[in-house]
Amino acid sequence: MKMPLKIKYADGTEGEVPDSDAALEIYRHSASHLMAAAVCSLFPGTHLGIGPAISDGFYYDFDRAERFVEEDLGKIESKMKELIAENLSFEPCIMSKEEAIAFFARQGENLKVELIQEKAAGTLSIYRLGNVVDFCTGPHIAETGLFDPGSFRILNIAGSYWRGDEKNRQLQRIYGTAFLEPRDLADYIRRLEEAKKRDHRKLGRELDLFSISEEAGSGLIFWHPKGTRIRHIIEDFLRKELYRRGYEFVTTPHVARDVLWKTSGHYEYYRQNMYVFNIDDEEFVIKPMNCPGHIQIYKTQMRSYRDLPMRYAEFGTVYRYEKSGVLHGMLRVRGFTQDDAHIFCTREQVYDEISDLMDLVLYIMKSFGFDQYKVELSVRDASRKKDYAGTEEEWELAESALTRSLSDRGIQWTRMEGEAVFYGPKIDVKLIDAIGRPWQLSTVQFDFTLPKRFGLSYVGSDGSMHQPVMLHRALLGSVERFLGVLIEHYAGAFPIWLAPVQAVIIPIAERHREYAGQVKRRLLQADIRAEVDDRNEKMGYKIRAAQTGKIPYMLIVGDKELQSREVSVRNRFQGDGGSQTLEGFLDTIEGLIKNRAVEP
Ligand SMILES: [Zn+2]
Ligand SMILES: [Zn+2]
Repeated sequence: MKMPLKIKYADGTEGEVPDSDAALEIYRHSASHLMAAAVCSLFPGTHLGIGPAISDGFYYDFDRAERFVEEDLGKIESKMKELIAENLSFEPCIMSKEEAIAFFARQGENLKVELIQEKAAGTLSIYRLGNVVDFCTGPHIAETGLFDPGSFRILNIAGSYWRGDEKNRQLQRIYGTAFLEPRDLADYIRRLEEAKKRDHRKLGRELDLFSISEEAGSGLIFWHPKGTRIRHIIEDFLRKELYRRGYEFVTTPHVARDVLWKTSGHYEYYRQNMYVFNIDDEEFVIKPMNCPGHIQIYKTQMRSYRDLPMRYAEFGTVYRYEKSGVLHGMLRVRGFTQDDAHIFCTREQVYDEISDLMDLVLYIMKSFGFDQYKVELSVRDASRKKDYAGTEEEWELAESALTRSLSDRGIQWTRMEGEAVFYGPKIDVKLIDAIGRPWQLSTVQFDFTLPKRFGLSYVGSDGSMHQPVMLHRALLGSVERFLGVLIEHYAGAFPIWLAPVQAVIIPIAERHREYAGQVKRRLLQADIRAEVDDRNEKMGYKIRAAQTGKIPYMLIVGDKELQSREVSVRNRFQGDGGSQTLEGFLDTIEGLIKNRAVEP
């Protein structure tokens, strides 16, 4: 793309935008118009919704009786290239609101009419591109000849609703992407293909880890035996680590009376996400959060400053209603288990608690093989202080503890002004996966409202009553989401310590079965997760099956191994590793497990 980008404003004047995010956005938005023009010319009778640029491309929502199919995408792309060759210009024109409404109504563009009625004042700008007229404030690139035909791609079709509301008309959304440089597009397509290979929904099915049942409902995860093994490993690791660091585990009910949620405020502010039901003339809520439960335990006794800090942890399963359109495999669900904890402490203890938490977050990330992360510190909008709960002193204490804990560790962070929720500041940790994608996992969140709402207190060293500081924190977020991220990060090839099956023993012939069984028993004794593949299949088939199953080690046993009491070791990444004694193999694998090694 020739820079600066030549653009045209709604009043017909032209301008230039230097190579920047702004230029990319105008380019993508213009590409969405180009796509709309191509679609309208290929499929007459199609009506238009909206077509914005988004973070990694653009889309346009179309209203069409027939469904678009995969094969249409290539046709649309070719048509766009034809329109580029015609060098059509983005012709702006100013109309009065009445004129515009009459004009779009004549064209049958009822969605545009609705938008104009709502958004436009006295006059408005419309654009003509070829045969398509659109209501848009622009700016756009000056003419289609400025598009590089190798800089965009039409990607996929999805269902959508007019204005994102399920009650409205259903539309068809076509996504595309465009970059100022064709090589950036090539990079993006490569990343997209890599991401497709790693899709946790696909791998979750292939590796038999989890499923979602339409019969049971969307957004609810069924953990299969292998998925459950990984889950137990994750939970056991965390449980041990938390006990070591002074946490206590608690267990709280999944259902509680509405009264509890009225006190906590969730009934008022979070009702649309809660599963509520009536029984015995009483209303109950399936818990969407664990905090009120932990608070119930805190409140059972008079607490003293000597009892603090108290750290209550729970693998707490919660249910939250989410619109079906946003559900996504294990990453966005309706039922999930948070690795939740709440810390109750004095003001004096805040810094140490936050500090220990940051150490814990970093340790956990490293243990699961993540070295890169982004940290965001969300603080309040200083110009709207009265909109936030908590006192000036509480906010200062919290923000300075969060900031200091980061700077003391030399952690880079982004300060998100005005991004804090009304009840307290927080730190979010987004880890960066193997192909550079960020995933929001850990959160450390101050809460200045719940201690007040539930009347929490402790007796201070001065003998009088004080309100404890309360922190919510989740390290993995939820085990569902975390497993989804692990699958995508490792493309299903989990480090040995997490692999549901660590070694598969493959007897070459019937007569080696007994020895294979002995090897398996020895491995199980040493807590190695081992299986024997004694199916009536060829050796090559079994090796491929183990390879697709991403099992770290294959131990092949035949005449030679049987005689020497050895195993022939094959690693999923390095291939054939030669013969070893079983004890020698055990030493290697136990070392890797103990160090939570990540293979290259
Ligand atoms: Zn536009
Ligand atoms: Zn909480």
